[in-house]
Amino acid sequence: MNIRYRSTRSSGETVSSSYAILKGLADDGGLYVPTAFPKLDKTIVELAQMSYQQVAYEVMKLFLTDYTADELRYCIDHAYDDKFDVESIAALVKTGREYFLELYHGKTIAFKDHALSILPYLLTTAAKKNDVRNQIVILTATSGDTGKAALAGFADVPGTKIIVFYPKDGVSPVQEKQMVTQKGSNTFVVGIRGNFDDAQTGVKKMFGDRALGRELDENGFQFSSANSINIGRLVPQVVYYVYAYAMLVKNGEISSGDPINITVPTGNFGNILAAYYAKQIGMPFARLICASNKNNVLTDFFDTGRYDRNRKFYVTSSPSMDILVSSNLERLIYQIDGCDAVKTAEFMDSLSKTGIYAINDTMKRELECFYARFATEEETLAAIRDLYESTGYVIDTHTAVGASVYKKYAEDTGDRTPTLIASTASPFKFARSVMTAIKGDVTGYSETELIDMLSEVSGMEEPPAVLELKDAPVRHKTVCDIDEMEATVKSWLKIR
Ligand SMILES: *Cc1c(COP(=O)(O)O)cnc(C)c1O
Repeated sequence: MNIRYRSTRSSGETVSSSYAILKGLADDGGLYVPTAFPKLDKTIVELAQMSYQQVAYEVMKLFLTDYTADELRYCIDHAYDDKFDVESIAALVKTGREYFLELYHGKTIAFKDHALSILPYLLTTAAKKNDVRNQIVILTATSGDTGKAALAGFADVPGTKIIVFYPKDGVSPVQEKQMVTQKGSNTFVVGIRGNFDDAQTGVKKMFGDRALGRELDENGFQFSSANSINIGRLVPQVVYYVYAYAMLVKNGEISSGDPINITVPTGNFGNILAAYYAKQIGMPFARLICASNKNNVLTDFFDTGRYDRNRKFYVTSSPSMDILVSSNLERLIYQIDGCDAVKTAEFMDSLSKTGIYAINDTMKRELECFYARFATEEETLAAIRDLYESTGYVIDTHTAVGASVYKKYAEDTGDRTPTLIASTASPFKFARSVMTAIKGDVTGYSETELIDMLSEVSGMEEPPAVLELKDAPVRHKTVCDIDEMEATVKSWLKIR
């Protein structure tokens, strides 16, 4: 099946997968979606015999149909190599009826490495295939983890430059240090005086600005995106859900065809949408459990059918989920509304003008496979402590939001279906919060001391990603206001 892509906001022309990856966002501001969902053409039993790389090929070839087999294998083999510290690339840990799917064994110790180690290869291959002469400028807004994973992926990749905007006071100390110490002559990191939504809105505005696009083109540049709005981010994330299911079968935990639930700590709705896509291509996933922190805009949406971003923004201990506008929800809205681009565009227009849109009952019924709840700050820390005290296993704050919401789900429904919880970051990335959960008050301890303590209680070695930060020099010091983002980009590209 030849899968093409179209914008969620206009039903016009379709584009190839490589073109969609190259563009990131469609010209009309919509997100690229596949024109149909392909079906897995390997059985689970066959997949269970495969390596991560082989499963990646089987999944990605279904979606990225204009890449040749050689091109895809090249991208996969260069992405999923010893940059990951486990041979299986993703690891499963059983703690009870639930399984944690550790997605933090890559270079920057968050799940975003899974997509961002391959995106530079997919993108540079796409540039060749589409005869692009311009330099690709990756423009990225980050709530903490995307930024570093994208920087690490694109650093010194020929033909590319990367600019990352992060909320100056909205990321963890390790996250900030990881970004501002980034090497590479083509990298640029900017703190903004605002929150993640401000950063994301500013970036989307630049993408939609045609005059700016022309100016860039005249100077030999064009924008692309490393955010999860890029379909090249989403497709590699479908892989680990398929792989994890196959591993459960291989390990005899379930039989092929048995349903499982998936719990995902959610921010921009990318990771959970990948699980939904995996379900569409044939995985027997029952409930998709959408876990939010105190910024519970998604919980309310799934409860009421009304998306309302007009609310207080909280900075929490799970900063990568501190988001009020979950971009990838647009892809789900499009899907549950019979792929009606005109109506999706109306919803998004209403969102940008009033901060609100409401779906009808027919659309709501399409959401029955989702369950959404949120965890408070206290509940999040309690989830870390309880799991540690009962099993000795330590999870990070984001994963803890997932664990806490899963517990509510199990109590609420009595459902005993085996459940996978996406473990999205290493606890070492959020040592202060994690140690507060385990030890109580830790004020007065330095970041380094906390990391040592964490290593001791968890029995886990301090990851190189954290170790190397200790004496890494700060290389990026630029800070700007929200309305200076465009000028900052132009000045770095030396466009006048
Ligand atoms: C990005 C991130 C999330 C949220 O993922 P989305 O795809 O934005 O929903 C959750 N946890 C961690 C650690 C992250 O970095």
